[in-house]
Amino acid sequence: MEDYILVRYGELSLKKSNRKQFINRIQNHIKRSCEPFSNLTFEARGLRFYINLNNTEASSIIEILKQIPGIYSFSVVSRCLSDLNEINLLAKELVEQKLKEGFKTFKIETNRGDKNFPKTSPEITKEVGSFLFKNVLGLKADMYHPDFVLSIDVRQEGTFLFTNTYMGLGGFPAGCLGKVGLMISGGIDSVVAGYLAIKKGMQVEAIHFSSPPYTSDLAVQKVIDLLEVLTSYTEYQNLNLYIVPFSKIQQAIYENVKEDYCITIMRRMMYRITEKLAKRINALAIVNGENVGQVASQTLESMNTIESVVDMCVIRPLATYDKQDIVDLAKKIKTYDISIRPYEDCCTVFVPKHPQIKPRLDLTIKEENKLTFDELIDDAINNVQKITLRKNHHYDYIASHLKDLTQDLKDLF
Ligand code: ATP
Ligand code: MG
Repeated sequence: MEDYILVRYGELSLKKSNRKQFINRIQNHIKRSCEPFSNLTFEARGLRFYINLNNTEASSIIEILKQIPGIYSFSVVSRCLSDLNEINLLAKELVEQKLKEGFKTFKIETNRGDKNFPKTSPEITKEVGSFLFKNVLGLKADMYHPDFVLSIDVRQEGTFLFTNTYMGLGGFPAGCLGKVGLMISGGIDSVVAGYLAIKKGMQVEAIHFSSPPYTSDLAVQKVIDLLEVLTSYTEYQNLNLYIVPFSKIQQAIYENVKEDYCITIMRRMMYRITEKLAKRINALAIVNGENVGQVASQTLESMNTIESVVDMCVIRPLATYDKQDIVDLAKKIKTYDISIRPYEDCCTVFVPKHPQIKPRLDLTIKEENKLTFDELIDDAINNVQKITLRKNHHYDYIASHLKDLTQDLKDLF
């Protein structure tokens, strides 16, 4: 008996022309993520990919595979020769193991991929079934609600048996659909939106608006920590973060604009800057964590007035989610505990008491024209700070910022 992991791909059937390239990408992603395990060998066969464990513990590889976009599902499988005696013996071994684990009822599902095999799938199922009933005590069949399924997959390269299937992330291979600019706050939503974009095959670069001294270095560190969670789902690309200084713009808005239009105009400024940066990095779309109806700036009227400043597709993966579903997903991907750290976001400073929930475009433009916003935008963009986050490396923003400040002080004296 040899142990393998059989990997099945996700939505590739939709994308016939790109299929080969997509498959290569997933395979490379798997191989690179498994580099620390030097015993593994790999075998690609059509739409299946086998990882030969060569005595490596399956559990560590299972955890890696769960984080790779484009994998639909995978199973730990045992392989034997395509010979009925061998299949019977291996089936017995696997079924006995399941009984030991407390499972009792089962059914067999056979798939005969090798049409040269002398028996049909129903015949194989029947023969293996009767062998097992004769040779394994306490085993019961249940066609409708079995405790486990014994799958028998007869292929030219051998027969594979398994009793487990793990679901993968689904989606498309990492980065294969092109680059997007993710607007990331430190909140619960935007990082989840980023995760969904990555899992759907987009390469994410992140843009964060920071308003020192109203917001602290700890708020930026929080965004970095959130993005570091996302790096576990990317291939080997680095994840870039662009930090936009936003305090001057916010101040100008709050000093010049009617209070109830401040949020609308602030968000229009964010969108304009995000689009400029996105174009500079060759991103094809903007992604954010907006959710219809959640706050004043996310009514349909607000979203129209805000979005009209950009000429680029805006993807809102969470637009229709219920908050609880977003929270559940944040907990699942382990960003929730970071997101609820209590630091201010630039959107939570200068919040008006009664923001417009139906901002009119003409009034918005009238208010906005009180600002010299092209200058403000250029100034913000010229002072953007870029940080590159790497898989499995922690970036300590506070320490590096302190180092810069100490250097500035040294230069002064
Ligand atoms: P989140 O939980 O992601 O902060 P939210 O529901 O609190 O979202 P808002 O604060 O109105 O909603 O923000 C809506 C979206 O705008 C966010 O999901 C995010 O994509 C973007 N955004 C908000 N604040 C910032 C920021 N400081 N930098 C970059 N993008 C931001
Ligand atoms: Mg927020």
